[in-house]
Amino acid sequence: MSQIQYIKCPYCSKTVSYNENHLNICIPNYVDGILLNCYSCGKQNKKYSNSQLTKEDKARCIDCVSNDIKTKFMPYRHLYINEYHREHYDVNNTIDKQLEFAVGELNLPKVNELLEIGANPNYNRQDTFQPINKFIRLLSYNADGSEKPENDDIQPSTPLKLCVFRFSDCDLTCSQRSTLIKIAEQLIKYGASAIEAKEYYECRYGTPDIDNGEEIEEIEEIAEVENNNSDVERNKKWNEFYKLLCNKK
Ligand SMILES: [Zn+2]
Ligand SMILES: [Zn+2]
Repeated sequence: MSQIQYIKCPYCSKTVSYNENHLNICIPNYVDGILLNCYSCGKQNKKYSNSQLTKEDKARCIDCVSNDIKTKFMPYRHLYINEYHREHYDVNNTIDKQLEFAVGELNLPKVNELLEIGANPNYNRQDTFQPINKFIRLLSYNADGSEKPENDDIQPSTPLKLCVFRFSDCDLTCSQRSTLIKIAEQLIKYGASAIEAKEYYECRYGTPDIDNGEEIEEIEEIAEVENNNSDVERNKKWNEFYKLLCNKK
């Protein structure tokens, strides 16, 4: 199956087909005998050694050479997902993407902050693809430049599904699971679809029998012993989370 993958050029931000070789020719850096920008830092009016100047459009300024910076300057590098993870709270990233990241790292204050300023609790995260023979993943776009949403039932594609996904991380402490539940509560309060997340929970972990037998009525704040959760404590958290998604608090 060959399907055209579109990306945003990390140099000029245009939407281009990944295969059209645009990346190699983007940014004419040497126009009419004048060097516009340093190849690596992208800055104008830098100083160059004579040997660098012979490299024309690939010339690097004295500062970049002395700091051993060799990569090609990318003004829009956040469009690449491997960079995006490093710059997740960068102002260039949408608040929806920042919300996705804040949920992933269990950052409740940041989640609250982003929801308050209008981040979308039902944001469907962007699709990515791995180019053949490359160890990177690139963010995927439609031909018109709009984000291509991820469309895969087994992936945690929304913030609330990401809560469900993260909940099974066996390294989580009771305190961290409580934080995830609080994050899920906030997302639902701001309009996240609990039904979708409940289906996702059931699809991943099965349907807990909370109406018969095992239901735990009183969820008390457990004296938390970090990294030493008993099964009982853990099960309480699982039930509490599931009931939240079922709206059976
Ligand atoms: Zn370009
Ligand atoms: Zn430079």
